[in-house]
Amino acid sequence: MIDVVPLTAAADGLIAVVVAVPVVLVAGGIAIATRRRGRGDGSPTAGAETGGGGVAVAERPAPAPAAPQTSEQTGSGVAAEPRVGVGGEPVDEPAPVVEPPTYRGRLGKARGLLSGYIGAVRAKGRIDATTWDDLEEALIRADVGVGATDALLDDLRGRVKAGSIPDPDALIDALKADLVAMVTTPASGLSAVGSGHTEGTGGGSPDDEPARTVDVWLFVGVNGVGKTTTLGKVATRLSRAGTPVLLAAGDTFRAAAGEQLSLWAERAGADIVRGSEGGDPSSVVFDAVQRAASKGYPLVLADTAGRLHNKVNLIEELKKIRKVSDRPPGRVTEVLLVLDATTGQNGLAQAKVFLDAVVVTGVVLTKLDGTAKGGIVVAIQRELGLPVKLVGLGEGPDDLIDFDPEAFVDALF
Ligand code: GDP
Repeated sequence: MIDVVPLTAAADGLIAVVVAVPVVLVAGGIAIATRRRGRGDGSPTAGAETGGGGVAVAERPAPAPAAPQTSEQTGSGVAAEPRVGVGGEPVDEPAPVVEPPTYRGRLGKARGLLSGYIGAVRAKGRIDATTWDDLEEALIRADVGVGATDALLDDLRGRVKAGSIPDPDALIDALKADLVAMVTTPASGLSAVGSGHTEGTGGGSPDDEPARTVDVWLFVGVNGVGKTTTLGKVATRLSRAGTPVLLAAGDTFRAAAGEQLSLWAERAGADIVRGSEGGDPSSVVFDAVQRAASKGYPLVLADTAGRLHNKVNLIEELKKIRKVSDRPPGRVTEVLLVLDATTGQNGLAQAKVFLDAVVVTGVVLTKLDGTAKGGIVVAIQRELGLPVKLVGLGEGPDDLIDFDPEAFVDALF
């Protein structure tokens, strides 16, 4: 069966954070230092069966085909449908209901940062030059980005001049509403699973079995951003909600990525298809889609490598994986770009490599519970034009929530 090993990839993530944070701090400091207008004051907040091609499959009984589910039905930690077991009988015990984490509870650094400035602006009782300096500094420090900060403040200045914003409280309310508008995008939910999935018998004669479609969600992003962890969290959430998922360990480049994913598969009660280390990731995903079709899984969640020998290799490999995944019975319905919020503006630059390779349907922003400053959500939607669909607020299986613009901005303030 599957060999399970500790999460050795944690070291990768740690290195990425250790390297990225100082870089971002320095970059943020430079941006602010060059933009402050010489006020001179401090800030207010001073085991497997081996199939063809060396691909291994962890065996579990085939799942009952699942009904299509909407993103609401697959919401965090809540079993929306009666659970079904092998053969389709209802499972007696209720799915565990786990309280999802909240932005307010988890946005440590991000909350502290903005709220200090906001408090100082409100306390002044009037709007003057310092107010604008404080807001500018707050937004840039919070990783909102220079372009978005300028756009926000120019608009607010105009409204103050026109008299529609009379005092600091109204100014903060207007800023909040503008930020919510900036991070609100249509199509920010995950696609419904299995809307094109046709029910079959899970292994019967191919002659009398109708064609099936297998949805494929690809997880792409730089090494250490949290792809494998996010995939495991999504698998946990969907399994709990009654959608059987098959995991594809498409990161054959990184040693231990397969073991790490196997551990998540065990936790989620999901099956996994793995390849040999250094093997062809496309054939792992291809085999997973074939297996999903024959066993009745409506969805394959595929991990991919975040680093290859060079950028061209990475792009070509991703293109190939995407093409193979989209070959019937497979169809790619989500390509989720995973970004580490603690890397701030640097993360955006890294993300652009992936945008060259595949059409991305949404972003998963991880590690917002850590040293991240939150404003990166604004920059992602403004600069990449992509909706943030999911947010990681911790390392546990339940620490993933749907992105909610109002709750997010509210927590920041
Ligand atoms: P990958 O290389 O992109 O697959 O990244 P991993 O999934 O291996 O994650 C790298 C590290 O980040 C691991 O230590 C994870 O536990 C950690 N991690 C992932 N998501 C989150 C999150 O939302 N919050 C925190 N605090 N850590 C996370």
